[in-house]
Amino acid sequence: MTATVTNNFVSHLEGAIDGEHLPPEIVHTLHHERPIWVRYDLEQINKSLSKQVLLSRPPTIWRYAELLPAYEPSKIVSLGEGMTPVLPCPRLGGEMGLNHLSVKDESQLPTGSFKSRGMALAITMANHFGVKTVALPTAGNAGGAAAAYAARAGMQCYVFMPQDTPIINQYEAVAAGAHAFLVNGLINDCGSVVNKGKDEMGWFDLSTLKEPYRIEGKKTMGLELAEQFDWKLPDVIFYPTGGGTGLIGMWKAFNELREMGWLDSPVMPRMISVQSTGCSPIVNAYDSGQRHATPVQSAETIARGIRVPGAVGDFMILDAIRQSGGTAVAVDEDAILPWMSRATATEGISVCPETGACFAAVQQCLDDGTISANDNIVVFNTGASQKYSEAIACELPLLNIEQPINWAAI
Ligand SMILES: *Cc1c(COP(=O)(O)O)cnc(C)c1O
Repeated sequence: MTATVTNNFVSHLEGAIDGEHLPPEIVHTLHHERPIWVRYDLEQINKSLSKQVLLSRPPTIWRYAELLPAYEPSKIVSLGEGMTPVLPCPRLGGEMGLNHLSVKDESQLPTGSFKSRGMALAITMANHFGVKTVALPTAGNAGGAAAAYAARAGMQCYVFMPQDTPIINQYEAVAAGAHAFLVNGLINDCGSVVNKGKDEMGWFDLSTLKEPYRIEGKKTMGLELAEQFDWKLPDVIFYPTGGGTGLIGMWKAFNELREMGWLDSPVMPRMISVQSTGCSPIVNAYDSGQRHATPVQSAETIARGIRVPGAVGDFMILDAIRQSGGTAVAVDEDAILPWMSRATATEGISVCPETGACFAAVQQCLDDGTISANDNIVVFNTGASQKYSEAIACELPLLNIEQPINWAAI
């Protein structure tokens, strides 16, 4: 399939493993079994776009149109994915011993997770190329987002998820009209089903990093952050890492802005990749100095979004961490839910288990001196806690109004 490229700023696509240039007007999946970058003529963008013009546009991801892949406005598939707030957390930060702790709250996006950013771009580009049916494996939130954006585009969507995927993720995919299936395996097993089905059924594979555009959607997290921090980036970013598109996309955004000369501070943030001791392939590879991660066996964590035993873009994640001077941290699986509850109850932000892991990592890094009390720290809250009904389940005391209320017990 080919389509006319109407946006002049995409210069080419590029194989991430070998730098080979690829034509942007054709649908691509992987190149030598590895992901593909979208590259732009940043000099031209700089000539066409000023910060002033950018700031005058509506606060959605589409305000960064020049830095997004080729599209025709009529092909955009959107659920109004807007700019998410950066929320200062003085109460929690104070308890932890940090003076500048903030959360970028992605739980406020359509379908309640940052996956909507990637799907907005992936489905828009699939639409651009005339794709009618998409399919993907998911640990949970990607399936819900893909189903919603596919419905919005009038496409068919096939979703495959592990049997123990959070129940809301199962329901939301079906509610948005997807053909959803449970698989008795992990996300990589679901990926194999999609891989077979795409030949048999003619599906377009939306898997993490297996098409070039989800990263570009995730990139808007970094663009927004730069704008929200007045073009001086925070010192440290904590990000839960599964397939890695979020971390890779954000690092790509910072580099594009730097190349455009838009950043007012020469210091780039240190990217800290967070995983659980139950599934930490990136941390293992980082610690042993490898460029590729060895897939972990029997991956298990309550933070389903980061239960990814092997990532096709492992080297891109590790490159970003190392180039930024950051690190990769595995937190004790048992620390995840307590931190999720604590952060939610202390600041009122709807914190997902993946972000619970990030708060555990922040404390760990403060204790071991990786970060210090005066660092400007941003933790990404990648999803809404309400989507994890199993993790937040509890029993409320029943007030029997047929009897006089015992106020002493309230
Ligand atoms: C998918 C997901 C992640 C992991 O994101 P990647 O960019 O794929 O590494 C983290 N948190 C939540 C809530 C997710 O849904």
